[in-house]
Amino acid sequence: MFILGAECSRCGEVFPSDNILTVCPKCGGALLFQYDLSRVAEKVSKRDLESRADTFWKFKELLPLSSPKHIVSLGEPYTPILQFRKDNSAASNVFLKDDGRLPTGTFKARGMAVAVSKLKELNINRVALPSAGNAAAALAAYGAKAGMEVYVFMPKDVPKSNIKECVSMGAKVYLVDGLINDAAEMVKKFGKDYGWLDVSTNKQPYRCEGYKAIAFEIAEQFNWNLPDNIIFPTGGGEGIIGLWKGFKDLIELGWTEKIPRLIIVQSSGCAPLVKAYNNGEVEVKETWENAETIAAGLRVPRPYASYLVLRAIMETKGIAVAVDDKEIMASMKTFLKKGVYACPEASATLAALNKLETKGSIDKDESVLLYLTGNAMKYFDFIKIKKSEIPVLNKETNSLP
Ligand SMILES: *Cc1c(COP(=O)(O)O)cnc(C)c1O
Ligand SMILES: [Zn+2]
Repeated sequence: MFILGAECSRCGEVFPSDNILTVCPKCGGALLFQYDLSRVAEKVSKRDLESRADTFWKFKELLPLSSPKHIVSLGEPYTPILQFRKDNSAASNVFLKDDGRLPTGTFKARGMAVAVSKLKELNINRVALPSAGNAAAALAAYGAKAGMEVYVFMPKDVPKSNIKECVSMGAKVYLVDGLINDAAEMVKKFGKDYGWLDVSTNKQPYRCEGYKAIAFEIAEQFNWNLPDNIIFPTGGGEGIIGLWKGFKDLIELGWTEKIPRLIIVQSSGCAPLVKAYNNGEVEVKETWENAETIAAGLRVPRPYASYLVLRAIMETKGIAVAVDDKEIMASMKTFLKKGVYACPEASATLAALNKLETKGSIDKDESVLLYLTGNAMKYFDFIKIKKSEIPVLNKETNSLP
C-alpha cells in the first residue's frame, strides 16, 4: 500500500486511511486520500502499466485497497475514445470517451466499484445512498455482487428505469417526496437506527478514487499526451473532483506535463456551480430553487463539496457553462444520428461545446474531449416520436406508406 492517509480538503487534518471514513470529524470537509507518489514512481513505470490488462484496476498502486483480492468486479473495461466529427464545427479535434459501456451503463460504476471493494475490505455490510438514480443503480449492482445490504433513497420522479433496476438487483428502495438533498436528509435521519454507512457523493473518500483513475486511463489512451480541454457533465461533482485529483497525481508522478482545462456543464434548470462560478464565489452558498431538468444526474441543487469543483475549475483555468434542456435534447438527437448512444447528461457536453465555440472560448485548433457519462438506454422515454411517423402494417398493406 502506498497510501499515506486521508486528508481533509478544508482544514488539512490527516486521518489514518484504514479507519472507516466519512467526512472530516472536525470541520465536515471532504476527505481525499493521499499517496506516497514518489515511491509509486520508483516502483512502477508507464511501461509496466501498459503491459497490464486494460481495466482501471491496473492502477492498483494508486487505489486504496490493501490487496487486489478484495476487488469486487463486474468486468470494467477501458472505455473507448472515439473521434467525433461535428457537422457545423470548426474544431477538428473532438473526441468522445464513452463510459456508457461500463456496468449499469454509467460512469457511476467506477466510483462504486472502488468504494464497495474497499468497504468490503473494511467489513462493512450495510450501505445507504441518496441518489438521482444512476449512483443507486451502480451501488445496487456492486452491492449485490459483494453480498451487501443496499438502501437507496431517490426523488420520487427519477426515471422509472432507475427504480426498476435497483429493485431488481435487490436493493431496498425508498422514494422521497423532494429532491436529492431531501433524500440525503432521510439517509442521515434513519442512519442511527439502521447503522448503515452513508456513501453519499463526497461524504466518503472512496468513490472519488474510482473517478481519479479516469485521468490515468485517459492519459494512457492518449499516449500520455493529454487533450487541451475536457467537458464534463457535473451534478454532485465527485466525477470532476476525482478527475482533477488524478491529473494532479500524474503531474507529480512525472508521467504527464499538463492538466487539461476542466470545463463543467450543468443544466440551466439546476446550475448552482455555474452560478457560483459566474459570481466569482468559492463555494455554493445556497440551495438552487425549483431544480428541474431532464438530465436527472445533474439535478443536485446544493453539491456537498462545491468548493472543490470550483477549485478544480480555477486551477485549470476551466469554465463552468449551463445549457438548457432543449439544447440537451437536440444534442442527444445529434449524437444518436451518428450512432452515439449518449444519455441527456452526456449530451450536455456537446451542447456546451457548441456554446463555447460560438462564444470563442475554445479555439478551433485545440483538442476537446467530451466525457460521455452514461448511455441513452435508460432515457428513451424522453424522446417523443409521433405515432404517425411509424406506420403499422397488416396483411392487406400493398405499398409502404
Ligand atoms: C451522476 C451523473 C453525473 C454527474 O456526476 P457527479 O459526479 O455527481 O458530478 C453525470 N452524468 C450521469 C449520467 C450521472 O449519472
Ligand atoms: Zn477538516
